[in-house]
Amino acid sequence: MKYFDAHTHTNFVAYKDDCEEVIGRAKEAGVAINVVGTQKDTSAAAIELAKKYDHVFATIGLHPVHTSKSYHDVNELGEGGKEFTSRGEVFDMAVYERMGEHPRVIAIGECGLDYYRTEADTKELQKKAFIEQIELANRLGKPLMLHIRNSYEDALEIIKAHAKVKGNVHFFAGDWNTAKRFLEFGFALSFTGVITFTHDYDDVVRNAPLNMLLSETDAPYVTPVPYRGKRNEPAYVTEVVRAIAKIRGEDNEAVAVQLMENARRVFSLSAH
Ligand SMILES: [Zn+2]
Repeated sequence: MKYFDAHTHTNFVAYKDDCEEVIGRAKEAGVAINVVGTQKDTSAAAIELAKKYDHVFATIGLHPVHTSKSYHDVNELGEGGKEFTSRGEVFDMAVYERMGEHPRVIAIGECGLDYYRTEADTKELQKKAFIEQIELANRLGKPLMLHIRNSYEDALEIIKAHAKVKGNVHFFAGDWNTAKRFLEFGFALSFTGVITFTHDYDDVVRNAPLNMLLSETDAPYVTPVPYRGKRNEPAYVTEVVRAIAKIRGEDNEAVAVQLMENARRVFSLSAH
């Protein structure tokens, strides 16, 4: 496999009719994928996919917005998940530990803090679940897949206090000063198709050491150019890699090789 989609959700309801084809197209395009869970069901589904396909790996965890009453996304859970998103989930260490021990699980998450859609009193719930997932990652010796939105300061403070493992900051959306602090602490940064249609992150993409970057789609969201308007899928990560190379003014092939190498290192792929 030549490319790595470090963060994707083919476990979501958005792919219920054609998951197999989507995963097949990734394979044809030379894309290995990391399917990321957001709560118990999507985490279990990620493991099922990773068991079925050699080029698929899984990440399991509880997304910060799902620790309390949260926005309902039909792409994620379908119509049926409304009951769940109206109450949230308490992080169940025993359940996630069992899932996390699975050999095809390469990381813990997506976990972190999301202050975008949530109210102030949910911050404490998010912090608690985040710390518990860091402790799980420490115990299993597996890296963290971080989801951080409008909360970089609080998240940094927590990982510095608790994390003994490193990992990746998914969908990095901070400025270069913030990026530097995560990089200095040993965390990789991943970018999505967003960089194919905005220049907001060009500074970070250009200034970061290439060996600390990863490519991702975050499918079904943020479809890259030239597929805007269509549902996103892992095969399109090639466009994200191309955008990283273009922004940095580097050779596309060389960037692809290095990004794959980064994924192997960050997620210890050869051990899975
Ligand atoms: Zn995600």
